[in-house]
Amino acid sequence: MTRAAHAETADAADLYAGIRTFRVGQFEVTAIRDGGRAMEGPHPIFGENQDAEAVAELLEENFLPADRFVNGFTPVLVNTGSERVLFDTGLGAGARQGGLGQLRARLEAAGHAPDAIDVVVLTHFHGDHIGGLMEEGGPAFPNARYVAGQAEYDFWTHEDRLSGPTENSARAVQANVVPFADNMMFLAEGDEAVAGITALEAFGHSPGHMIYHLESEGERLLLTADTANHYIASLRRPDWHVRFDMDKEAAAATRRRVFDMVAAERIPFLGYHMPFPGVGFIETLDEGYRYVPASYQFEL
Ligand SMILES: [Zn+2]
Repeated sequence: MTRAAHAETADAADLYAGIRTFRVGQFEVTAIRDGGRAMEGPHPIFGENQDAEAVAELLEENFLPADRFVNGFTPVLVNTGSERVLFDTGLGAGARQGGLGQLRARLEAAGHAPDAIDVVVLTHFHGDHIGGLMEEGGPAFPNARYVAGQAEYDFWTHEDRLSGPTENSARAVQANVVPFADNMMFLAEGDEAVAGITALEAFGHSPGHMIYHLESEGERLLLTADTANHYIASLRRPDWHVRFDMDKEAAAATRRRVFDMVAAERIPFLGYHMPFPGVGFIETLDEGYRYVPASYQFEL
C-alpha cells in the first residue's frame, strides 16, 4: 500500500475522528474534515519563487519532510441557534472513491442531515470548496439558501473564463454554483451573511476570496478560508509565492494584513487547509508568524 492510499484509507475509516465541535459565544462551531490528500511537495507549490533547498530547510527545522505533505480540507458548520450555516462544501462525490468528499457523511454523523442545512456560504469558487454543492445531479443541501462574494461570482461567471487556464474551474462553477444563482445572496466587504457573521475581503488567492468574522457574546473567531494554506510555509514565510494563489503578490499582502490583525487582536482563527481541526492562534515573529494550534481554550 502506498503512503497516499494509507492516508486516505485511514481518514475515511473513522468518521468521528474528523468532527470537532466547540463554542464561540452562542454559536456552536463544528469543524468537519472532508479528507486529506497526500501530495508531493510542499515545494514548488509553496515557495514557488524560492530554491527547493530553502523550502526544505524551513520544513526540516519544523520536523516536517520536504518531499511529501498532506493537504487537508475542512469545511465548517456554524449553528447560530436559529440557523445552520455551512462554510464551503469540500470536494464532493467525485473525490469520494479516493477517500475524500467525506463532508456529507460526517455532517450526518454529527447530527446534521443535509436537508437541515439552512445556509451555504462559499468563501471562493475553487473546486475543493464548491465540489460538494451537487449530489447525484441535484442540490446536496436541498433546503439551503446560498451566500457568496459578488466579486468572486462576477469573475468566474464572465464568459472570458471559459477558455484558457481558467476553463476547467469555470466549467465547474457553471455546473455547481450557477444553478443556485437565483437563491444566492452576494456580499461585499462588511456585509453580514447572517447576524453576527461578517464578510471581509481577502482577495489574492482568488479574485473575490472572502473570509468570515464570527462574533457572539463578545467571543470571536475568524474563518480565514484559503488566506494561508500551509501552517509552516505560508505563515513562517508569508511572502513566498504559492502556486494555488491566482495573484501571488495580492495574496501575500492579504496574508500579512489578515494575520497581522489575528495576531494583534489575539483572536482564534480557523483555516480551511490548516492541520485538522484547523483552529489556532498567531504570534508575530521577527520574520513571519508562528502558528499556535488551539488546545483546551474552548473546553473551559
Ligand atoms: Zn482550498
